Amino acid sequence: MARDYYGTLGVGQKATDQEIKRAYRKLARELHPDVNPDEAAQARFKDISTAYEVLSDPEKRRVVDLGGDPLQQGGGGGGGFGGAGGFGGGLGDVFEAFFGGGGGGGTRGPRGRMQPGADSLLRTKLTLDECALGVTKHITVDTAILCDLCTGSGTNGDSKPVRCETCGGAGEVQSVQRSFLGQVMTSRPCPTCRGAGETIPDPCRKCGGDGRVRSRRDISVKVPLGVSNGMRIRLASQGEVGPGGGPAGDLYVEIVEQQHEVFVRDGDDLHCTVRVPMVDAALGTSVSVDAIIDGPTEISVDQGTQPGAVTVLRGHGMPKLRSGVRGDLHAHLEVVVPSKLDSKQTQLLEDLKRLRDRDTAEVVTIGSQHSGGLFSRLREAFSGR
Ligand SMILES: [Zn+2]
Ligand SMILES: [Zn+2]
Repeated sequence: MARDYYGTLGVGQKATDQEIKRAYRKLARELHPDVNPDEAAQARFKDISTAYEVLSDPEKRRVVDLGGDPLQQGGGGGGGFGGAGGFGGGLGDVFEAFFGGGGGGGTRGPRGRMQPGADSLLRTKLTLDECALGVTKHITVDTAILCDLCTGSGTNGDSKPVRCETCGGAGEVQSVQRSFLGQVMTSRPCPTCRGAGETIPDPCRKCGGDGRVRSRRDISVKVPLGVSNGMRIRLASQGEVGPGGGPAGDLYVEIVEQQHEVFVRDGDDLHCTVRVPMVDAALGTSVSVDAIIDGPTEISVDQGTQPGAVTVLRGHGMPKLRSGVRGDLHAHLEVVVPSKLDSKQTQLLEDLKRLRDRDTAEVVTIGSQHSGGLFSRLREAFSGR
């Protein structure tokens, strides 16, 4: 009967890779033999580790989703990388969950030469327009890929790996140390085979026995519209191929959003500043802004616009990731008073002043000011209101 791997980890059948990894880590922290020596806990730790190994492998997970059990079909099946036996990365997967990459160490028994590859991360700069419209980016990645000469086996021609002489194939060496508690047996990964349990006497000429080689290649990444700074796009199996030709990790492309020269982004909203001459603010006008996505867009400045007023254009902001629903564009109106006047202009303003003789400068009482002005905002900040 097929085991319930999803139930073991307490996740649903639609769980993402991240959710599975998270659920596994959480359980493993409670149940790891180093933390919890209880026998039931150890059995459970074994179960969750098995479940995680199955569900984190797309091929094995596919078998589970079809109602089968990838561990009850005997050795063979999937893989494609020669070498390590039935159980793919062995404990490597478990350690990968904790350390996010190959390497691991400190395991028991030979861990095989084939290890899962590490994830890799690179960053790509995007303009605000590219974030708004989506873009296909061409980027150069430098990762380990499968050695095409030995297809990952690491051996030269038909030669075969042999059992490691230092550790006799165990992958670890033991030493006895004396301490005040008596003799203490410690074990560490074998220094000759680095835990693999075997060595390659006649290594591949191209990769030197590692089963992988470094390679630069250009890839295209489809960036969906609505992304923002710090988001990561996951490209499955485009990361580092593991030692011994182990399955590749994932490649993450992180978005680095460039500052736009006009707009400042705040989530899905955009903000810009519009300078309005004093006379235009008094009489009313309209100004055209070269909006993201929409191109030239009219912003109307009402008659009698006050400094600090904000005009909001609904639906002219950034699109939301996936839904495409757009935020708003906020135009902050800055009223500019002329600093120099010629004699004709001075005369005109003097005439206006006479006509508006009720307008005089005055000290205002707190609470009677227009809200939104720079000074009232400052005052509120200082008075803590
Ligand atoms: Zn060894
Ligand atoms: Zn090779």
